[in-house]
Amino acid sequence: MKLISPKYIITVNPLREILTNHSVLIDGNYIRKIELTEVLKSEVQNEICDIVDVPDLILIPGFVQTHIHLCQTLFRGLADDLELLDWLQYKIFPFEAAHSKESMRASAQLGLVELVRSGTTTILDMGSINHSDIVFEELQKFGIRAFHGKAMMDINNIFPKLSEKMSDAIESSQQLAKAFHNSSNGRIKYAFAPRFLLSCSDELLKGSNNLVHDFSESLFHTHASENQSELEAVRQRCGRNNIEHFEEIQVLNDRSCIAHCIWLNDNEVNLMKNRKSRVLHCPSSNLKLASGIANIPRYLKEGINVSLGADGAPCNNFLDIFVEMRLASLIQKPIHGPKVMNAKTVFELATIEGAKALHLENKIGSIEEGKKADLVLLDLNKIHNSLSDAKEDLYSKIVFSCDHSNVHSVMVEGEWIYSNKSFVKYDEKEIVSNAKFELSKLINRVS
Ligand SMILES: [Zn+2]
Repeated sequence: MKLISPKYIITVNPLREILTNHSVLIDGNYIRKIELTEVLKSEVQNEICDIVDVPDLILIPGFVQTHIHLCQTLFRGLADDLELLDWLQYKIFPFEAAHSKESMRASAQLGLVELVRSGTTTILDMGSINHSDIVFEELQKFGIRAFHGKAMMDINNIFPKLSEKMSDAIESSQQLAKAFHNSSNGRIKYAFAPRFLLSCSDELLKGSNNLVHDFSESLFHTHASENQSELEAVRQRCGRNNIEHFEEIQVLNDRSCIAHCIWLNDNEVNLMKNRKSRVLHCPSSNLKLASGIANIPRYLKEGINVSLGADGAPCNNFLDIFVEMRLASLIQKPIHGPKVMNAKTVFELATIEGAKALHLENKIGSIEEGKKADLVLLDLNKIHNSLSDAKEDLYSKIVFSCDHSNVHSVMVEGEWIYSNKSFVKYDEKEIVSNAKFELSKLINRVS
């Protein structure tokens, strides 16, 4: 057992309590009890228990990022200043097609190191066409909670090499799901990932959605309405917009996790709401690729589930949730006024709303008895942090003046993965130097 006694516990429980003088008792992989520190300490005094007294640190739920591409981490900084379709055609598709097993492993490791050291404990990740088995191996080893799925593409007019037959996309996804869905004691799950409408036939979209029903607790993960040129091409092919087409072919439901959703019409907003589909909001990526600004305040008002993701490293270029939280708030203020997307709202998108997006809200996303022990300790005493120590200012302090350097320790399933600013099992320097080596080989394969 482990007993953590921090200065504050930001619970994100239904009452949104922030507790002082309280401790969290962890038994195996779950939170057994949250109680006054003096009470809990006397209860465990005769038991074998690791006592973590951290009176200067804040305990929060681990962050959830619902749109990531670990397969692209290696390409960070190599695809700047482009719009979506050019970015894919000239940079990302050729890079992804050049991946070997070794470069895929290096890319996944590099992304995981960055995600965990900035406090993310759960991700929804989209792979490339090949080597998703390698990504799953790294997810299993690393200890993070994750959904992953290979990208399915049976159409690729702009880079035909990165595509496959519909039947192959379905069959290989099915095989991967059989091998990895609910592996590592349920910590790793499968998300079927037709990349976006333009790279998928209707048959592939429908087929992948059917697979979600075959594998209970799996998800349907795609992109839509990110960019106006993409939307124009979708209209030319389908005669309607992305979400309207998803509705027409019946792939829109509460397991549909859809990245971006920037250019939705009123009908599509209603469809997202009525079908309980999830919006995966990626503010950095949307700005960097000049895609646009999703009307998140409206979606939230309508009761649509919205969560946050960094997307891939080449369109961000961080994978840091603190960057996404800050931007998710700031980009809306010039449009909707200073009161929208306050720090508490944004913090919820990165925790409990992310958990809801993945149908994991009964297991993660808040610090409550019976939930999994996915926890982060923050040190808010850095030079760049607000000096206020008031409980009510904590959300602001975290969302507007924190970065990865504030993350002290990270726990998933009751195990410390990152402790006192270093990885328990991984050598960060070795991962970076191996990634550099693999990137140089990959660039030779592309050119
Ligand atoms: Zn993406």
